[in-house]
Amino acid sequence: MALPESIAVVGAGTMGNGIAHVLALHGFTVHLVDISPQVLERALATIGRNLDRQIRKGLITEAEKTATLGRIRPYTDLAAALSGVAFVIEAVPEQVELKLDMFRRFDALTAPEVVLASNTSSISITRLASVTNRAERVIGMHFFNPVPVMALVEVVSGMETSEETVCLVEELARALEKTPVRVRDFPGFVSNRVLMPMINEAIWCLYEGVATPEAIDQVMRLGMNHPMGPLRLADLIGLDVCLHILNVLYEGFRDPKYRPCPLLVKMVEAGRLGEKTGRGFYEYNQHQ
Ligand code: NAD
Repeated sequence: MALPESIAVVGAGTMGNGIAHVLALHGFTVHLVDISPQVLERALATIGRNLDRQIRKGLITEAEKTATLGRIRPYTDLAAALSGVAFVIEAVPEQVELKLDMFRRFDALTAPEVVLASNTSSISITRLASVTNRAERVIGMHFFNPVPVMALVEVVSGMETSEETVCLVEELARALEKTPVRVRDFPGFVSNRVLMPMINEAIWCLYEGVATPEAIDQVMRLGMNHPMGPLRLADLIGLDVCLHILNVLYEGFRDPKYRPCPLLVKMVEAGRLGEKTGRGFYEYNQHQ
């Protein structure tokens, strides 16, 4: 399969705007779709600001910024956005029913050869594929936040995903100057299956009074050379997101080793979700 010229990115939030940014910067025409015109407006403004940052760092030129923005077309109508594209990347919120509904609609609205990729962090690709008539062309293309900066794309093959589809997605990731890594479709893939138990264990350490949050993070930064401690990282990801992914692992494997720490559950119940609410394991000044 040849690399597509036009790609639809569905969902223009945190991940969708980053994905649209890197695709357009590397020459692809992007149909960026969201249900909210305000989100689309904000996404284009964010992309502009992030391109400016790349100019300041000497990574791109002003002309490249103009060309990149010129390749992004905003849509609120899904059918119009999908018309004529050869590849779809879905980045709507992490809700199973919503994603299943999106994949049913993609299947009905695009030609059968169009590849349907999901940026999901934890939902089964095999399950998303099962509601389409092209399971061999459904795949996970898991980018990391912030997309313009992070080098990895986890390429997740579902039970029926064809080798041809995997190769195309790897080629697309390389065209974006990212490194694709192949993984199979099991709960949490590799990234979250390794990361989330580490974060959970750090929370258990805090819960059991082994050390303070600062001390736990310092051990992992200075002793393991992690750029950020696990509790600080959990605050950045969002404690609700961490709890959700741990529950996916716990339910997916039925293995108590993934049991979310009760302190994490309680913090989410209290609305202490991390940086986004101003309070998690640390406090944040929201006006900064
Ligand atoms: P987000 O909430 O920032 O953005 C989702 C966007 O989808 C919103 O703008 C929303 O308006 C839009 N949307 C909702 N329903 C829609 C519909 N029917 N059609 C079109 N647009 C619709 O979410 P996000 O953080 O960008 O996450 C998106 C996906 O990426 C999730 O599956 C998440 O698990 C995954 N992911 C997130 C991160 C992260 O760090 N945020 C990292 C990797 C993967």
